[in-house]
Amino acid sequence: MEEIKNLKVLISEEKLNERINELAQEIYNDYKGQEITFICILKGSIFFTVELSKRMPCDINFEFIRVSSYHGENSTGIIEMKVDLQGDIKGKDVIIIEDIVDTGRTLSYLKEYLKSKEPKSLKICSLLDKKERRVCKIDADYVGFNIPDKFVIGYGLDVDEKYRNLPYIGYFENV
Ligand code: 5GP
Repeated sequence: MEEIKNLKVLISEEKLNERINELAQEIYNDYKGQEITFICILKGSIFFTVELSKRMPCDINFEFIRVSSYHGENSTGIIEMKVDLQGDIKGKDVIIIEDIVDTGRTLSYLKEYLKSKEPKSLKICSLLDKKERRVCKIDADYVGFNIPDKFVIGYGLDVDEKYRNLPYIGYFENV
């Protein structure tokens, strides 16, 4: 890929790999190698879901949900379900895999929605957390990195569908 102007690296590919190794170990130990259902929140969490699950030597079921709450760089605050669960999560150990917690609106909505499906347990794992932007009272059970209030891209995260395939987390200077 040619050089992208004003793009700075916030978290390198190496640091991402190191931290995802640690998270995978932590989750694997907590669940004692039992079967887990990962709910990947499309599209931003695809890279993280794949990398995390590759490092866990246990049975993992995959489900996918797509909600839209963001247009360009501003949250609308309105959550709309675009792709719903295909399987039944009743009685299962479920972990929501998210790319980033920002205002917390998406996860607050999803947590309530998924609780109504009666899983045995429900936790949240987010690669990134922007705590200072929080509007809803919600926290992830597993967090990769706490980051400052910057609009980040890469490793699944986009601006209008671009830059998802960058292998690191970056941001635009002066944006
Ligand atoms: P929340 O509902 O917590 O405000 O926002 C969650 C969603 O907003 C994330 O899943 C992500 O899609 C999007 N989002 C929040 N912050 C950022 C950011 O810094 N960069 C990008 N690309 N998306 C973000």
